[in-house]
Amino acid sequence: VVHWPCVASQRKRLNWVQLAGHKGNFKAAGEGSILKKISENEKQCFERLSGDALQPFVPQFLGVVEKDGESFLHMTDLLATFDLPNVMDCKMGIRTYLEEELVRARDQPKLRKDLYEKMVEVDGQGPTALEHAQKGVTKPRYMQWRETMSSTHTLGFRIEGIKKADGTCRTDFKKTHNQQDVTAAFRDFVEEDDSIVRSYLGRLAEIQQVLQTSEFFKRHEVVGSSLLFIHDHTGRAEVWLIDFGKTSALPEGQMLSHAVPWQEGNREDGYLWGLENLVQVLEAVDCG
Ligand code: ATP
Ligand code: MG
Ligand code: MG
Repeated sequence: VVHWPCVASQRKRLNWVQLAGHKGNFKAAGEGSILKKISENEKQCFERLSGDALQPFVPQFLGVVEKDGESFLHMTDLLATFDLPNVMDCKMGIRTYLEEELVRARDQPKLRKDLYEKMVEVDGQGPTALEHAQKGVTKPRYMQWRETMSSTHTLGFRIEGIKKADGTCRTDFKKTHNQQDVTAAFRDFVEEDDSIVRSYLGRLAEIQQVLQTSEFFKRHEVVGSSLLFIHDHTGRAEVWLIDFGKTSALPEGQMLSHAVPWQEGNREDGYLWGLENLVQVLEAVDCG
């Protein structure tokens, strides 16, 4: 088993683990809560989620806090009530960038050496012969290529990281894109415990149901958001929606289906399609 350097807790907050994002974006807060570096966009999402059908499935928003001259979103630590939790972050949707980011990237069509190098690092076969010769790729090309490497493109979600109770932690799923490999990662995560699988499936069914009624969900492009899976040895298993840093409101009167394919301009995110695939993967985790 590979031990990956996930950002684990120091000192008293033994439970806390961060499976994605920049290390500096999070700070410990009072008991049972954490601070995430503020983005105005995510703050607005938390405010709009207040009173929405989805509210019971997202961390409780406790307001904005100033610390060391910076502003943070104060929210509940979902891990706090677990004993040595197993944690998995699944980033949902068929793309993890906003349409406007793609448009902006196209405004600067210059060849980027750094992105070429990032591409080669993941897959030497990634760049075309021309790109190899130029030692550069454009940003939109890089963004779109990246999604085809992971299961984002094929399944509508990807695993960002898994931390298990035994201390092992993996964040190397950037190239995990077929259903078999994703299923194997899920099977390892639940340690072939059938009752945990059933609990997760129950919770996902609730989430699927509540997404049908949520006004927030209808009116937002949900990109880069994750489902956080948490279970421990007591048999408790929960799934929560986190990370609304890139979730953005649609123009007044517009709605998404979250289930039809994305074509640039329609802003569809494939969230429900990905969730359906995720449920199928979990159902295929045969613990027999
Ligand atoms: P990125 O956009 O790269 O995914 P980010 O900076 O937006 O990162 P998040 O994805 O919100 O950060 O969170 C990063 C990690 O921190 C999650 O994968 C999860 O492990 C942990 N985390 C975030 N929010 C919570 C929470 N409320 N309770 C417990 N753990 C959390
Ligand atoms: Mg995230
Ligand atoms: Mg984010």
